[in-house]
Amino acid sequence: MTVVVVVVGAGQAGVQVAASLREHGHAGRVVLVDTEEPLPYQRPPLSKTYLTDREPAEPTLRSAAFYAEHGIELRTGTRVRAVDVAAGVVTFGDGADLRWTDLVLATGSRPVPLAVPGTDLGGVLPLRTLADARRLRALLPSVRRVVVIGGGFIGLEVAGAALTSGAAVTVLEAAPRLLGRSVTATTAEVLLAHHRRWGIDVRVAAKATEIVGEHGKVRAVRTSDGDLLPAELVVVGIGITARDELAREAGLAVDDGIVVDAGLRTAHPHVYAIGDCARFPGPGVSTVRLESVQNATDQAEHVAQAIATGATAPYGAVPWFWSHQHGARLQMAGLTTGTDDTVVTGDPGKPAFSVYCFRGGALVGVESVNRPADHLKARKLLAEGRPVRRTEFGAGPGVTAGRLSREERS
Ligand SMILES: Cc1cc2nc3c(=O)[nH]c(=O)nc-3n(C[C@H](O)[C@H](O)[C@H](O)COP(=O)(O)OP(=O)(O)OC[C@H]3O[C@@H](n4cnc5c(N)ncnc54)[C@H](O)[C@@H]3O)c2cc1C
Repeated sequence: MTVVVVVVGAGQAGVQVAASLREHGHAGRVVLVDTEEPLPYQRPPLSKTYLTDREPAEPTLRSAAFYAEHGIELRTGTRVRAVDVAAGVVTFGDGADLRWTDLVLATGSRPVPLAVPGTDLGGVLPLRTLADARRLRALLPSVRRVVVIGGGFIGLEVAGAALTSGAAVTVLEAAPRLLGRSVTATTAEVLLAHHRRWGIDVRVAAKATEIVGEHGKVRAVRTSDGDLLPAELVVVGIGITARDELAREAGLAVDDGIVVDAGLRTAHPHVYAIGDCARFPGPGVSTVRLESVQNATDQAEHVAQAIATGATAPYGAVPWFWSHQHGARLQMAGLTTGTDDTVVTGDPGKPAFSVYCFRGGALVGVESVNRPADHLKARKLLAEGRPVRRTEFGAGPGVTAGRLSREERS
């Protein structure tokens, strides 16, 4: 039987699984499919250097020649419309079918839409794709006032880029603090102060209730406090959801993401899900869905090895993540969900510090701002897998420790 691996989605995870299949000696066909037209690209620069650099590099993941040289059949501009797991077939948007022996779902995620009037006005943009970033980049030099809706990583990075381009920037975050799903209150407070110091008007517990336009173009954003904030550009970044509809329609389990086991397999032994779209058993938590380059890359490598060599080890990479917010380089290692105790080292005032997060007395994650050495050490410590106790961090100068409040733990 001809071995055919079909990979749905040529983002960070899909491209890596195709490349790693070849590295692990897979000799069969590899078909890599994506609805988007451009050569597959990486997303992190889209909210960073791609917006700020005078002549940004194209953020392609691999050259066009790479796919040809490695016998990877790249089909861009092609949607997979349906998956039949019993028959082992995918159906493309044009109705054509392709048989697979292994299927990797790497369909990523899409922005959560903002449910207020006015999101269809010109000048109101999400930021997920290269096309979004190109539109944003083209608009930035000509706008004076920008409102960013959502104080998450992407929102804060875009706010920094807009400020760099000379605009006056307001960030609206509906929750009582920034980055509520992602970092401790300590880090969130430091970043809030950092952005305000740079001159960004960051408002927490502030919702956008309407985007107001004139002649089809955005003119202002109305807030829950009754303010009307003038703006020629509005960027919406209020979170993402998994693109798990193909799996759901195929009868596979989904729960805010495609549910997979410790080997990243769905209930079908030859159907895998990886990257932003996958919900998997995580370290110290029952299941988790992660949105990061590390997660996409490491899961891809794991699945490629399983397909190419039959390896059956459970997936167990230490999660890590980074975000650059004009002068604040945040790096995170581990998963800090359920943290009940922290130790802070360094100087949050600079900012250059790390927050060591513990659960039940053991280290579960570390957030570092402008402390790359701490981050690398944290990844190493967490990868060792032994319980790391808070006493190992001593109580020297610049070290503060504290039990977390109920709010901070949530
Ligand atoms: C602006 C931005 C900045 C970011 N910055 C960082 C950062 O600093 N650090 C970090 O770690 N992470 C960052 N991320 C997150 C990171 O880029 C994602 O976690 C990563 O791209 C996930 O890779 P993926 O392959 O799972 O999904 P994606 O990269 O989203 O790729 C999925 C692909 O699947 C395709 N697809 C979906 N459905 C179908 C279908 N039915 N048929 C065919 N194709 C389909 C989509 O078109 C898409 O191209 C950022 C993300 C964005 C948007």
